[in-house]
Amino acid sequence: MAYRYVSCETIESELANAIKYITFTPDPELPALLKNALANETGEISKDILNCMLKNIELAPKIEIPLCQDTGTLVVFAEIGNQCIIEGPPLPEIINETLIKVSKELYLRPSIVKDPLLQRENTGNNAPAIVHISIIKGDTIKLQIDQKGGGAENMSRLQMFTPSASSEDIKNFVVETVTLAGGNACPPLIIGIGIGGNFETCALLAKKAILRPLSKKNPLKEYAVLEQEILESVNATGIGVQGLGGKTNALAVHILTAPCHIASLPVAVNLQCHSHRHIEIII
Ligand code: SF4
Repeated sequence: MAYRYVSCETIESELANAIKYITFTPDPELPALLKNALANETGEISKDILNCMLKNIELAPKIEIPLCQDTGTLVVFAEIGNQCIIEGPPLPEIINETLIKVSKELYLRPSIVKDPLLQRENTGNNAPAIVHISIIKGDTIKLQIDQKGGGAENMSRLQMFTPSASSEDIKNFVVETVTLAGGNACPPLIIGIGIGGNFETCALLAKKAILRPLSKKNPLKEYAVLEQEILESVNATGIGVQGLGGKTNALAVHILTAPCHIASLPVAVNLQCHSHRHIEIII
């Protein structure tokens, strides 16, 4: 079997460019969705906020000021080809070293504490990132990188339904989740829903679901219909932009599924705020 060698320096350089890019630039489809929301809104406050968000997106990359003061937790889904050999330290170390360098260079707000409950001392450098690694066939490294804000993450929820639960029950759970979140998740939202797997995998599915391209429909027709129904129900709550009322609480709903146990139907909802900062790179 032929192997491809990838240097630690190559990964560092590509990753540093990716983190810099998403710090200043949101998902490429986000501006069009916000403009569409603006065209549909009638309330003056909602329109004002949407205009501010659009101005922010226009200015952030020009003047190199982060899209949001909350520079988030760096979450990386890495798929490493089984014919790819990384020359240097293990990938999580490379990611953390790069994150520390970029955080210093861009003066990113340090957003991570060492211990979650006791002293909550800030690490001062945004490390460690949260890294999920899977091994796939091939000789490349795919990195899905998400700068995940804390406000939206806090309002995410998980419920272990039983198989008797219906699509309607899941829809109600999502609507309840965004209603409890109100303005705390910084809407308009991208809603990731994980269905299936077990306790931990459905949370990962929900997180991964938000990274799907915004205009891409679910490949399964039944799930595509459910996504649209949930989007309409969420927007009908009237919670609106930043929780201040209006027609736009979410811009997209993405479902990702996995096989599960015959006795289970886990469902996780991961909320992503309007500062939807993510990118995919292949090395
Ligand atoms: S949840 Fe998102 S928009 Fe709100 S403060 Fe955090 S990163 Fe910023």
